[in-house]
Amino acid sequence: MKVLIVDDSPVTLALAQARLRDENLDVLCAQGGVEGLEKTRKEHPDLILLDLKMPDLSGYEVCERIKSDPELGSIPIIFLTASDSVEDKVKGLDMGAVDYVAKPFDPVELSARVRAALRVKRLQDLLNLRAQLDPLTELWNRQAMETRLRQEWARTSRHEEVLAFLMMDVDHFKKVNDTYGHPAGDRVLCAMAHVLTVQCRESDLACRYGGEEFAVILPGADSHEAAHLAERCREDVEQLALPAQDRVIRVTASFGVADSKDLVSRDDLLHHADAALYRAKREGRNRVIVWEPYIADTTVPREVTS
Ligand SMILES: [Mg+2]
Repeated sequence: MKVLIVDDSPVTLALAQARLRDENLDVLCAQGGVEGLEKTRKEHPDLILLDLKMPDLSGYEVCERIKSDPELGSIPIIFLTASDSVEDKVKGLDMGAVDYVAKPFDPVELSARVRAALRVKRLQDLLNLRAQLDPLTELWNRQAMETRLRQEWARTSRHEEVLAFLMMDVDHFKKVNDTYGHPAGDRVLCAMAHVLTVQCRESDLACRYGGEEFAVILPGADSHEAAHLAERCREDVEQLALPAQDRVIRVTASFGVADSKDLVSRDDLLHHADAALYRAKREGRNRVIVWEPYIADTTVPREVTS
C-alpha cells in the first residue's frame, strides 16, 4: 500500500520514510502542503501522514481540501503534531483525521498507528467493492455499471472513440425456476456470469443488470465487435448442461448490441441495445441482433420480453 508523508522538515520526512519502508510500504514524500496536495491528486495514496504546521499551507488547510474532494475524501489522514495542545488534536480529528502522532515520534508507535489505519482502509475498500457487486454472480451490479458507463461515455466523447453496449437475457428463464426451483435458477444465472467473464476482454465490464438480464460495456469496440462477443457467448450458453436432480438443464439466451456512433445520449445507447434484444426475442430467441435504425419502429414495452 502507498503512504504519503507531508512535512516541511526534511529530517522528519527522512525518519518517517526510513521507518515505514521497513513495513514494506510504498512511501512517498512531499515537502510542504502545496506539494502534498499535488502528490495526493496524482498518486491517490492509501494513507497520508500530514504535518500540522507548514509555512506554505497548513495541515488543516490541506486536510480540508482533501476531505472536500469527492475523489480523495476517503483517504485516511494521520496528523503529525509537535503541539501538545488538546485543542489542536481535537480540531484535527474533527476535520476527519483518523489519528494523530506527536512529534518527535516514537518509531515503533508510528508504525503501529500506520498499520492500524491501513487495516481500516483495507476493510473500507473491501466494503466499497462489495457494495458494487451482485452478491449472487459476483459481477458488477447495475449501479456500478451505470457509474462506469457514465465515465466511459465521457471518455469516449472526449477522445472521439466508440463504445459498444451488449444486453443479454436468458430465454424462458421463468420456466427454469418453475420446473427446477429457484436454487437451480440461481445456478443458471451463475453459469451465465461465468460465460460472460470467460469471453469478455480485460477492458470490458460485465454486470448483472437485474433478474435474468445481463449487460456488458465494451470500451473501444463497435457493435460488430460486440456482436462477435455476443455470438461466442450465445454458443457457450447453448453448450451448457447443468445437472438438476436427475435431469439436465439446457438454456439459451438472446442478445442485443449497439454502439455509440452518431449518438448524443448514453440513454440512447441503452435503448438501442434493449430494442435489439427485444427484436432477438421476437425473431425466435437464441440469437444476436445488432441495432439498426429499422428496429426503432418495432420497439414495444419491455414487459413482454422473457
Ligand atoms: Mg512543520
